[in-house]
This record gives sequence, structure tokens and C-alpha cells, in this order.
Amino acid sequence: MSKHFALVPAAGSGSRMGDAQPKQYLSLAGRPLLYHALAALCRVPALSLVYVVLAVDDGLWQRHDWTPLAAKLRPLFCGGASRAETVRNGLRAIAGEVGALDWVLVHDAARPCLDDHHVERLLREVGEDDDGGILAVPLADTLKRADAESRIAATVPREGLWQAQTPQMFRYHTLRRALDRARDVTDEASAVEALGLRPKLVAADATNLKVTYPLDLRLAEWILANRES
Ligand code: C5P
Repeated sequence: MSKHFALVPAAGSGSRMGDAQPKQYLSLAGRPLLYHALAALCRVPALSLVYVVLAVDDGLWQRHDWTPLAAKLRPLFCGGASRAETVRNGLRAIAGEVGALDWVLVHDAARPCLDDHHVERLLREVGEDDDGGILAVPLADTLKRADAESRIAATVPREGLWQAQTPQMFRYHTLRRALDRARDVTDEASAVEALGLRPKLVAADATNLKVTYPLDLRLAEWILANRES
């Protein structure tokens, strides 16, 4: 039986938040943003270990308390210059512990509201399908392409369009091969697609949001608070 592991790239600088400290360490409900994503993954019984890939010179990790997650959590200080490079470095670092056919669920540090049922659905729907799969949401809004003056140049039909989220789940050897070939991808699925595979789209929902702008932090806090109560 193949095992399941999580790998969380958390070596970004988070410059779009307009904040001095890296996004993954912004405070959310009394913990660093990163903590919530890691805690969600550590809670899933099917996941054997949760690797978090940090910047080589990360000086903030040790300032926080990770002991509640210690049983499954494994920090790796080998982040790269881009998200894809961070994931690639992480995969290399765990080569001795993860089998070629084992599954790796790559999840953004900046998605703190991942819920157990999201992960369980991904695991169930992808199963042992060699092409893997990702959480995603069918697009609800009509899309407009802008011109240089922020006027509408075209309306893009939204039929069949989904917003990609994470976790994105692939076999270890598939992910290694995909990321060794495709250099500048913004998610793992596009690298895997470039190999000619057809990853599954598994429906999630908008609560699994990515914190990008300051307002997103407030939304995430609201989601977490209302889920617990
Ligand atoms: O900046 P963005 O929100 O797209 O980052 C997505 C994820 O990739 C975050 O978890 C971030 O920490 C991570 N990342 C990384 N290494 C980089 C750049 C981003 O691990 N060099």
C-alpha cells in the first residue's frame, strides 16, 4: 500500500501583503498563518508525515511553538527562489524517506482554512489514480480581459473553468519528474499536465482561500472562528 505525505512550501517572502515579515508568519487567531495549514494536515489520519519547507535562513520558525504538531511535523530548511524550486528542493530532501509510488500532497502555507473534509474528499476521489488530482472550485464569476486602460477588451467564457487550489496530490516520482522538467510553474498540476497526464479536479469550496491581500486575513479569521463554534 502506498503511503501519503504532505509537503508545504513556506519559503516565500509574501511581498504582496505590504508587510515586513513573511506572509506565513503573519498572526491569525493567535498563531502564525502557517500553523493553521500545518495543523489541518497533521489532523488527517491518512497522512504519515507533514514536511514544511522553509527558507534556508528562516529565523522566525524557532520563535513559535510547534510542539502540538511535533508527532507528524518535519521542518526542512531548503527553500528556493520560487515556489516550484522550494517544492523541488523539498522533494529531493525527502527522497530517502518516501517511496516512488507514495503520494505527496503539496499545500500552500497561505491556505489556513483547509478543513479535514476537503483533504478526505481529495484522498477519496483521487484514490490510486496515477494522474493525481487537485482541489479546485468551478468559476462563479464572469471573466473579463482588460486592456491597458482597464477597459473591457473581451469577455472570456467561464464554461469549464475552475480555480485551482491546494492540496495538489501526485505520486512522488511523477512530481519529481514533472518539476525537474517544468521550471517556472505556479502550481504542481501544470508541471504534471506538461507530462501529458490529466489530473482530476476535485470540488472544494471558497473557504479554502489563499491569503494574498490584507482583507484575506480577516476573512480567514472569520472562517476559522465560525467553524469552531
Ligand atoms: O506568494 P504566493 O501566495 O503565491 O505563495 C504560495 C506559496 O508558495 C506560499 O506557501 C509561499 O510561502 C510559498 N513559496 C515558497 N518559496 C518561494 C516563494 C513562495 O515556498 N520562493
